[in-house]
This record gives sequence, structure tokens and C-alpha cells, in this order.
Amino acid sequence: MSIPPCSTPVTRILDRFTAGQEVSQQDGEVLFGAQGADIAAITAMADHLRHQVNGEQVGFVVNRNINFTNICYMGCRFCGFAKRREDAGAEWLSLETIVTRAQQAQARGATEVCIQGGIHPKMPGTYYRDIVLAIKAALPDLHIHAFSPFEIWYGAAKTKMSYVDFITDLKECGLGSIPGTAAEILDTEVRKQLTKDKLSADKWVEIIRAAHHAGVRTTATIMYGHIDGPKHWSAHIAILREIQRETGGFTELVPLSFVHYDSPLYLADPTHVRPGPTTAEVNLMHAVSRIMLHGFIDNIQTSWTKLGPERAQELLRSGVNDFGGTLMNESISRAAGAGFGQEVTAFEMVQIIRAAGRIPVQRTTTYDVLEVFNSHDPARQAPLVERDGHTPLDFLGADLPGFLKEDA
Ligand code: SF4
Repeated sequence: MSIPPCSTPVTRILDRFTAGQEVSQQDGEVLFGAQGADIAAITAMADHLRHQVNGEQVGFVVNRNINFTNICYMGCRFCGFAKRREDAGAEWLSLETIVTRAQQAQARGATEVCIQGGIHPKMPGTYYRDIVLAIKAALPDLHIHAFSPFEIWYGAAKTKMSYVDFITDLKECGLGSIPGTAAEILDTEVRKQLTKDKLSADKWVEIIRAAHHAGVRTTATIMYGHIDGPKHWSAHIAILREIQRETGGFTELVPLSFVHYDSPLYLADPTHVRPGPTTAEVNLMHAVSRIMLHGFIDNIQTSWTKLGPERAQELLRSGVNDFGGTLMNESISRAAGAGFGQEVTAFEMVQIIRAAGRIPVQRTTTYDVLEVFNSHDPARQAPLVERDGHTPLDFLGADLPGFLKEDA
């Protein structure tokens, strides 16, 4: 490929990469800090790699989020989701309710439930296995993607089990994979300010390694655009690359842009905490990650819950090959003030991906192809939760509410 004109340092880094060298952590920092014409060169390289690795197909998974409790006393300063037991809106779902929600999801075509919750002080460590067992008893074919490393840390501590033993037990109960959330930024100083370092960077890495060694795959995440910068991003991606070199257990990277609106971190100190990443930083996060992780993690996912469907679609030109989940009931980003709705249905996913000139593919959690939508569409469905009149397709100019009402 020919790289668009760019500065000498960035040209040198991209030339070395094209010649077969990995992008070092130091060079990654330069790329993450790029400006002006350099950004176009970096995203062009990322798009070229995406085409080489994934072709024109863009994946999505039909799934439902089930946040089984929002009661949590960990006090992460970026979190708008956690509540105290006495707060209005605090909830802890029974196993019956969790199973009912999973059954509704499967009836709507879901192949996965994504289950995460707060760190509830009264919850026994065995509740995690109880959730998995209850769902599997009712829905043996449904993939359970569940429990952040923070929850694994908590469950293992409460049951006095090692991480590997705790995860192995969950796997034997039917757990399919683990979300690599709670990574935030894998840097001690940043984490001290975000989470008081309750789950340290070392512990996050240890738990992810334990999961991979137990044969449970995980996603990888980074939450950026608050008190962090290129130095932290490059170090974070380099850590993920080293884990992947050793275990091969990551399925994808999901960059999560910081949603500041209702976050205590931002509200307490808006002069020092950034209100999320800039447009250029979002592009660079996906593009540089694609370049640094080339040959290690093949899937870079855009997060429509954080960015909205239009912006998420634009990132398909910056190294992204996956649109994530339909979700049905997204609540964590909404609790922090993101206003992009709770669900993008499979039909809507296909329209958004196709409008970008790509081929939509419904996939499993672990990236097996279920159906390629070359020219046909998934069945139209009304969203699980009624919308306020806006749809994820509004930016495409489609008159969706009318025909969805007819189909509902
Ligand atoms: S991010 Fe998770 S662990 Fe932290 S306060 Fe929120 S719910 Fe609790």
C-alpha cells in the first residue's frame, strides 16, 4: 500500500512496521499522539490491515445484557451505574428473573447473554456459579459471557479459591467466556485515581491469564479519555499484546470511550478530567490498536453504546471490523449518561453495516460465522424496550419507526 504523506517520525514507524517489525511501546506512544496529516496516514494503514485480515465482512452478535445487580460499594470514580442498597432504583435480580430474561433473549434470537453486576457486599461468592447453572439448566445452548475480572476477584476471595480454580469451576458449570472489562487503564497511577487501585493492573492481568490458562477466552478492553494519554494507551496495548503472545486467549479488543456526563470523576473535577476523548483520539485509538495488535488480536470492535451508531459506523474506516452486540438491555453506559439507547436490533445492525459498504455477518461470541447477510435481511423486530421515537437508523435517513410499528 502507499502511505499518505506524513511526518518523518510517523513515516519511519510505519515503514519499519511494513518491513515486518512490531510497533514498540515507544513508537505506539508517538502514533497515539499523532496530529494532522499523520492521523490520515495511520488510519489508512489500519484500514489496509483490516482489509487484509477481515476482508469486507463486519461482524455482530445477537445478545442481551443482564446486569443482575447495580448494588456496589467499590466506589469507582468513573462509574454512574453503582447504587447503595437503600437508593431508589437499586436492584438485585433473583435467579428466576435472570433466567426469564435469558429465555426472552433466546426467543428473540440471542446466541449470548452478557452478564455483569456490581460487587454486592451481601452476595455469596457462589452466586456466580448459581447464575450459570440456572441459565444452563433452562437454556443449554445459550453462550454465557459473564463476570468481569473484578467479579472473578471478588468471587474467588469470598469462596477462598484460586483464580484458576474459581474460573475452572464456572467453566464446568457452563460459563462460555469472560468480558475483559474492569481493565480501565492498566497503569497504577491512573488506576489509583479511577478505582483507588482496588483491582490492581497486576491482578487484572493475573486473572485474565488464569482465565486463558483455564481455557476460557476473554475480550480485552481499554477505557480512555479521562485522565490518561498516549503514554498510557501504548503501554496498555503493549501489555495486551504480551498476554496474547503467551496465551492467545483474547477474542477481540473493545475500546471504550469515557462517558463523563454522570460520572463522579468528571463531576468532582471537570477542570482536570477530560469529558471523554476527542474525535481524533477515538480514531487513533482504534487505528493504532489495529496496527500494534496486528498478528495478535484480529478483531477490533467499535462500541455503539459509547459512541452512537453513526460514529461507530465511521470507525469501520479506522481499522474496525466488528460492531459488537445488539444488547437488548444496555444499562451501564446509559447510567453514566450515554444517550444512545438500549438496543440495535439485528435488522438495524445489518442496515448500518451495509450502508458503510461492508458485508454484515452474524457471528457467535467466539467469532464463528452464523450467517452472512449479502443481500437479505434478518427478520425485523421491534426493540425489547420501547423507544422514545428515535431509532439507531435515524442518521441514515430511514423511516424506521413506521415499519417497525407495523411489524411489532
Ligand atoms: S465500575 Fe463496577 S465495581 Fe466499580 S463502582 Fe461501578 S459497579 Fe462497582
